[in-house]
Amino acid sequence: MSHACPSCDSTSLVPRRAYRHGSLSVFVGRLLLVPSILVLVLGSMGVVGFRPAATREAVERARAATDELASAGVSDGLVAEVVASRAPSDSQLAALSDEQRQSIRRAQMAVAESGAHATMSRVTSSDAFRVLVVLALASGVLGVFLVRKTSVLQCTNCGTSAPSA
Ligand SMILES: [Zn+2]
Repeated sequence: MSHACPSCDSTSLVPRRAYRHGSLSVFVGRLLLVPSILVLVLGSMGVVGFRPAATREAVERARAATDELASAGVSDGLVAEVVASRAPSDSQLAALSDEQRQSIRRAQMAVAESGAHATMSRVTSSDAFRVLVVLALASGVLGVFLVRKTSVLQCTNCGTSAPSA
């Protein structure tokens, strides 16, 4: 069965893929897709890159490093400062041996690393991040809805498009 053009009654219609919605909707839809793709990429990087196991390992290393400080004869007060990511004063460092100073430097790096891991895992497991992911998915779904195409029949005579179904 052949279709007729609704405007000029020509039966010379060609099938085409056309946006289902107007150009403004397509524009808005693309805007909605960009942040949702970004959030999903960042989210998957966060999940892959900052596993809880890695955070636990970093915390273990930081604990081992501070244990090492205590056994190297560094005072409890100074160990507490290193754990709290505070830099010891020059006079505190001057009272230590080279070996103790190196232990402190190693412990500082381990503490900083475990802090960074803990921050990352807090961000990716936080409610705010989950809300962001849900919003990104919702805007992505809306974006896909707005930019999807449909089959139409276009009249070769006057250019009018009609739904093919
Ligand atoms: Zn026509």
